[in-house]
Formats: sequence, C-alpha cells, structure tokens
Amino acid sequence: MSDEFRFEETPFDKLHEECGVIAVYGHAEAANIAYLGLYALQHRGQESAGIASSDGREIHNYRGMGRVAEIFTPEVLGSLPGEMAIGHTRYSTAGDTALLNAQPFSVACNKGRLAVAHNGNITNASELRRELEHEGSIFQASSDTEVILHLVARSRERTLAAALREALLQLEGAFSLVFLAEDRMIVARDPHGFRPLAFGQMEPSGGKTCYVFGSETCAFDLIGAVYLDDVAPGEMVIIGPEGMTRERYAPVRDRAHCVFEHVYFSRPDSIVFGRHVAQSREMLGRLLAREHPVEADVVVPVPDSGVASAIGFSSEAGIPFRQALIRNHYVGRTFIEPSQAIRDFGVKLKFNPVRHLLEGKRVVLVDDSIVRGTVSRKIVRMVRGAGAREVHLRISCPPTVSPCFYGVDTPMKAELIAANHSIEEIRRFVEADSLGYLSLSGLRKAVADDRHDYCYACYTGDYPTELINIEEMMTAKDRR
Ligand code: AMP
Repeated sequence: MSDEFRFEETPFDKLHEECGVIAVYGHAEAANIAYLGLYALQHRGQESAGIASSDGREIHNYRGMGRVAEIFTPEVLGSLPGEMAIGHTRYSTAGDTALLNAQPFSVACNKGRLAVAHNGNITNASELRRELEHEGSIFQASSDTEVILHLVARSRERTLAAALREALLQLEGAFSLVFLAEDRMIVARDPHGFRPLAFGQMEPSGGKTCYVFGSETCAFDLIGAVYLDDVAPGEMVIIGPEGMTRERYAPVRDRAHCVFEHVYFSRPDSIVFGRHVAQSREMLGRLLAREHPVEADVVVPVPDSGVASAIGFSSEAGIPFRQALIRNHYVGRTFIEPSQAIRDFGVKLKFNPVRHLLEGKRVVLVDDSIVRGTVSRKIVRMVRGAGAREVHLRISCPPTVSPCFYGVDTPMKAELIAANHSIEEIRRFVEADSLGYLSLSGLRKAVADDRHDYCYACYTGDYPTELINIEEMMTAKDRR
C-alpha cells in the first residue's frame, strides 16, 4: 500500500461530505431563512450550494461553487423573492464536481416549473437514466437527481403530487428530497429512511405559521424553529394553498437509518433520527473505553470528528481529556501546494500538536474512523513526533469494510484498509502501539438501536436493499 500523500485525494479534502437540504414554506423572507439554514448545514457539504425560491408565479434559482456565506451575498439573496424556498449544500456523492451538478436543479416541464434538492444516492440511477436516454430524454448534468425530474416530467399523471409519487416508486436507494413548484412544496423520504429529514415550525411576525424541513435540527435552532417530527420513511408531505397533507406513498419497509450520521456526519448539537447526536457520540466513547481499556496519561481527540467520543472515553476511563491537537478550521480547497513539497504537508496544514501536553505522555488518540489509514498514520506519527511515549489509537466504530451506496463517499473496497487487512496489520500500518475499534454491538447500543432501525452496511457488507451490478459498484472508481 502506498502511503504517498496526494493532496487532491486526501480525505481532508473531503471531510464533511454528503449534502444538506433545507425547505421553508410560508415566510416573507424564505430565501434568507433558507440561507441561514444552509449556513448551519455547511458541514454537510462545502463544494457548492444553491437556493431556489418561488413568489407564487415564478421560480428563481441561484447556485454557486464554494461556501454558503461566499455564494449568497445580499444582492443574490435579494434576487430570490417569495415565501417559499428550498436550499442545498453539496459535497458530490454522485456526478462530477461542477456547477452544472450544483443543486437545486430547476426545470420547466408539463407539470409547470419545478426545482429539486436531494440528499442521498439513488442506486438504480444509471439503469433509469439509460432507459430514459433510450427513450429520448436529454440530461444536462451527471448527477442522479436529474433522473427524478425526468421521471416526473414523463409521468402521465396530471397533478404534480401524483407524478412525484409515481416517480419516487421507481427509485431505489437513499433520498431525502425537497421539491418546489410555483405554488407548493413537496418533501419526501425514501422508504428505508437512510438519510435524515426533520420537520419543524416557526412563527414569524404576522402570526402565520411557517413550516421548515431540514437535514439536521441544528438548522432549526439557528432560525428559531421548533423541531416537531421527522418526515417518516416512505412519507410525502405536500404544502400548498389548501394546507398541509402528510401521506405514505410507499409501503412500509425495514428502516435503515445511516448509523454514520451519528458516528461522524451530523453535528453533535442536532437531533437525528429522533436521537441527540451528542448522546450517541458520548456513548460511543464510553463503550469504546470499556471494550478497549488502556493505561494512559491523556485522552486526545482528533478534532473535530473525535472530540465528543473522546470526552466519553475520558469520563469512562478516568483519564484526563486534553486538546493536544489543534485544528486549523480555515483549510480550504483553494490552497496551492508549493512545488517544493514539505513532508506530511497536508496533515500539518490541518493539525498542529501541542508538544507541552504530549511530551513523555502515554496517549489515547480517539477518532471516529479509519478509511484508507493514510491520514491516521500521519496523525499517529505527528503525536509521536511531538514527544508522546506511547500512542494508543481508539476508533469509535467498527472497521469500515464495505463501501456505502447510500450517500456516504467511501472509496471502493480495494482502498478500504479494513476490507483487506487484519486489525494487527492496520495497527502496524498506522504505527500505533495498540489499536481498538468499537464492536458492532457497542455501536448498536450507543445509538440505542433496539429495533434494528439502522443501516450498518459499511461495517458488515450487508446491504439493506438489493443492488443491481453490485460487483461493478464495489470496484468502480467513480462509484461514489
Ligand atoms: P484515513 O486514516 O486516511 O482513513 O482517514 C481517517 C480520517 O478520515 C478520520 O479523521 C475520519 O474522521 C475521516 N473520515 C471518516 N469518514 C470519512 C468519509 N466518509 N469521508 C472523508 N473523511 C472521512
């Protein structure tokens, strides 16, 4: 295995991926509220963002590359009038990384003008796309979300809701979707409920009720909305001039909430799948300490992904918690690597060790996961280089052995270190004195999954949906 550092491919570049969606109905400043919501969901994707609004007659859409605060200047927000808005922040999980793939997508079709934003990954998108292209559809982008719009446009159903229902029933995989039409909004979640989608309410001045939907409740906190419920798996919510209706559009299926939302993606101040992420993260650390105890002087998190579980580990083990790795939060994509490459440059760019806290210490280093192992090795080396006497790596989930096809950007199987190596081999590769992963039962316990409501496919290889061409998907480079 090569440990060469390639800047474009480092997971740092990809930290906090996936997508975040937001939808606002019935607010005089809908686009501004959507903007704030996206701001709070920025950790779910930093490559591009967009907002589409409707003033009842027309849909306005603005998308840009980069971060939410950079894209949405007051002028841009001023060009998005109306009381309804949907927004999206994206790290690509399907399709190329270009503005063309930034969302919301908007089209004019026989159902009127329509915009859509999507979080998740449709596993039968290529099959559907092939069929649609065969029948004459023309695609603008390479993202799987566009397939949905084509299915809606081609439906013979007369109403948008009926056409959507028909379209959604043809999709497989993960989708939390928000649609905007001129006079209404429709949101829906796949029947397994892979990705989150919360539902809330706010009372802007004027007494009218405003409804909001979002990937995580931390967005609601910022805009002053109350979290009411989740959009249920297989549920569609329609809000228009006639009011709001909630309906089940798909038969009940086994739930498969993405456990990685609790392990890594979601912010600890969010409630995801009805559970506080902070509670899960602390439990992950506590159970990890019970399963893999070690004599040490300090517990050090890899920030930010390991912080909450390191706190749990520290409390459980009675070993002091120390922030001995400092993260630079402003590492962006625009950084130009000097031609005279410095050793381990990427890791140094992002983290700096606090020698004073590490020198001569036996250190428990806590992180959420090991994917390829290359970053973990650099961090272990960095901690040791700062004088640590021992470095014990603890990972707050089981070994990642299988790629995700439901919206998490894991590399293909061949690149997952745990898919091809024993724990002892991984320990040697990352150069730790000891290595311990949380067990699957520990993970299940930490998220209180008594009813088997979660998807653990990345740790088990046991996928909750049928995957056509699974072999091809496992090895495809551009699988995502
Ligand atoms: P590595 O040691 O190269 O496998 O990198 C591990 C680091 O990647 C950890 O700090 C994780 O927080 C981070 N990470 C975990 N999952 C992902 C993911 N799906 N995409 C990007 N980074 C991730």
